[in-house]
Amino acid sequence: MIEIIHHPPGAPIRAALLDFDGTLSLVRSGWQRVMRALMLETLPAGKESGAALAAEVEAAIHRLTGQATIHQMEWLATEVARRGGNPEPAETYRRRYAERLAVHVAHRLAALERGDLAADALLVPGARALLQALRARGVLLILASGTDRDEVLREARALKIAGYFGVHVYGPGTHDPAFSKRAVIAWVLSHQCLAGPELLVIGDGPVEIAEAHAVGAVAVGVAFDEERGTGLDASRRERLIAAGVDLIVPDFVEYERLLALVEHGER
Ligand SMILES: [Mg+2]
Repeated sequence: MIEIIHHPPGAPIRAALLDFDGTLSLVRSGWQRVMRALMLETLPAGKESGAALAAEVEAAIHRLTGQATIHQMEWLATEVARRGGNPEPAETYRRRYAERLAVHVAHRLAALERGDLAADALLVPGARALLQALRARGVLLILASGTDRDEVLREARALKIAGYFGVHVYGPGTHDPAFSKRAVIAWVLSHQCLAGPELLVIGDGPVEIAEAHAVGAVAVGVAFDEERGTGLDASRRERLIAAGVDLIVPDFVEYERLLALVEHGER
């Protein structure tokens, strides 16, 4: 179930940076549908067919997965202008998207907080065991998400995984409008004096994988099929490979083998 794209050099893991949505948490799964609908109703109909427009939106959503939401909405504003429309500010689009998604998220969070839904039902399979195993090894755990930090914190608490990360939860918000995963990765490497392979980066988006690849960290791509709720998402796998991923997993059920592979390389 673990696919090796590049053999990891085999180094002890000293820090692990994990993405949140689609990597650990399924609280926001379906966000792509909400964003797709917003983009399609906002973009002015041009000469191209509806199918061509839908394909373009689909490609943009995939390419920008892992970016802060404001950057996804900047793309939308630029596209509206390019098609001769009058764009609203990206921040307006961001707020509209966040309000709509909040309706979906609120139902799931309420069910978690009431205890009607077990936390593990909204985690990628094996995620809690992976975090536990990393903590047992003394690995510094860092959560970095393109979703607003306050929301990530609330959702991580509802999923009962916030404690693994302590103060190391990073995301955009008024406290850090310039947030980027690149900056967080650079900070970890320099602040912890790490060589690239001592940092493990785990994510489902091309953004964090490309940043990890650029600094020589070991990049593990998660291609969990969120729509089916099980197995591997083939198109996500393709995008992770294009971004320079080292290892691909559908989920973390085989976390022990995964960690052994990262730490000792393949024999
Ligand atoms: Mg993600």
